[in-house]
Amino acid sequence: EIKKPLEAEKIKEKRHEHLAKILSISYNNPIYVERAAFQYMYDAYGNTFLDAYNNIPHVGHSHPKVVKAGQIQMSKLNTNTRYLYDILNTYAEKLLSKFPATLNKVFFVNSGSEANDLAIRMAKKHTSNSNVMVIEHGYHGHTQIGIDISDYKFSNPKGQGQKEYIIKTEIPDTYRGRYTQNDGTAGKLYAENTINDIKASTNKIAAFIAEPIVGCAGQIPLAKGYLKPVYEAIRAQGGICISDEVQTGFGRLGEHFWGFEAQGVIPDMVVIGKPIGNGHPMAAVICTEEIASSFNTGVEFFTSFGGNPVSCAIGLAVLEVIEEENLQENAKKVGDYYKERFANLKEKYPCIGNIRGSGLFLGFDIVKDDTKEPDTKLAQYIKNQLREKNILISTDGPADNVLKTKPPIIFTKKDVDIVVKNTDTILENYYKNP
Ligand code: PMP
Repeated sequence: EIKKPLEAEKIKEKRHEHLAKILSISYNNPIYVERAAFQYMYDAYGNTFLDAYNNIPHVGHSHPKVVKAGQIQMSKLNTNTRYLYDILNTYAEKLLSKFPATLNKVFFVNSGSEANDLAIRMAKKHTSNSNVMVIEHGYHGHTQIGIDISDYKFSNPKGQGQKEYIIKTEIPDTYRGRYTQNDGTAGKLYAENTINDIKASTNKIAAFIAEPIVGCAGQIPLAKGYLKPVYEAIRAQGGICISDEVQTGFGRLGEHFWGFEAQGVIPDMVVIGKPIGNGHPMAAVICTEEIASSFNTGVEFFTSFGGNPVSCAIGLAVLEVIEEENLQENAKKVGDYYKERFANLKEKYPCIGNIRGSGLFLGFDIVKDDTKEPDTKLAQYIKNQLREKNILISTDGPADNVLKTKPPIIFTKKDVDIVVKNTDTILENYYKNP
């Protein structure tokens, strides 16, 4: 007997019996999902969705090599890090080989939030400074420190507000911001502004933390040339520089394996998460020898799950798949094509105000025709219409008007064609009957 799936609406009701409504759900018409493979998700009714949104299944949902690595290790050994086992060393060595030589120590944890929390604690310990500098609209996690350093959360009208130890600096946005000449001119001006904020801080800054492309701001890449002078100024007053690569890492940006490389800087700490385990809950803080030593205070560092053998096996498999399948190169090739195809759509539809991002981490800014005024309603309409056409994409930004696309980096040009063709149809109908 074939079991008929419950109505999605009933599942939602049931969810609210046991889980708080604050736990968000995507789309007006939520997806009752059952399975996923590579760039596809399948619902309980047998529909196939093209996933142009999920960046956590980096090398593809349920990638067989990653699944197998986890299964084999799980059947053999899983334990905490208080024992000696080879795969911890093997994985740490492989992961660190992806970083500049100065970044040679890794702390494994379980989520991006936890990694950022640890990074800030370590920065304070290393520098003995107290303040933390963050970028407008940034997001770094849901722990207490995570919220403290995430303007996206603390500046929400219903949020906790800005803590005293936080210095917030203006986002170097070359589309909607004060300076728009993205040939280094805007970056320099934004950096001068940030350096003034550094100088104005009454207490010294322990850490400056930034995402190379600010996701929750609506996929805003930091203006070219911004980080170098800012990093210098932070270090000059005794602070360290952290790059939050939770969204941007592992080759997604195409041109570079890590986002900080695009700015020609080397951070003192890098925080990684999401794609590191292709969906398995993992994250890490990578730092210099000196910072790791300062944290060696005599108070033990321990996490039950961070760096366990199963996580290491999965993380190692992810790195191997990225290399074996040339996925960084694919992100570059398909990402460039994606931007090009949307640039063609922009010619046709003036509501596409700006196309930005890098590789397969892109944002399409939806505006009221020929202005920079966000058109939230239209962006939501496009997202929900795409969902009705079985294509998954999201929206973000302070006005929630930026179409956000960050698919598994196995995405193909054919997949891009499907997204573009359907967006074209949706917009054509919209302009006929707004
Ligand atoms: N940093 C960034 C840039 C993120 O986007 C996120 C999650 N959206 C986090 C940190 C927190 O990671 P997690 O959800 O794994 O705790």
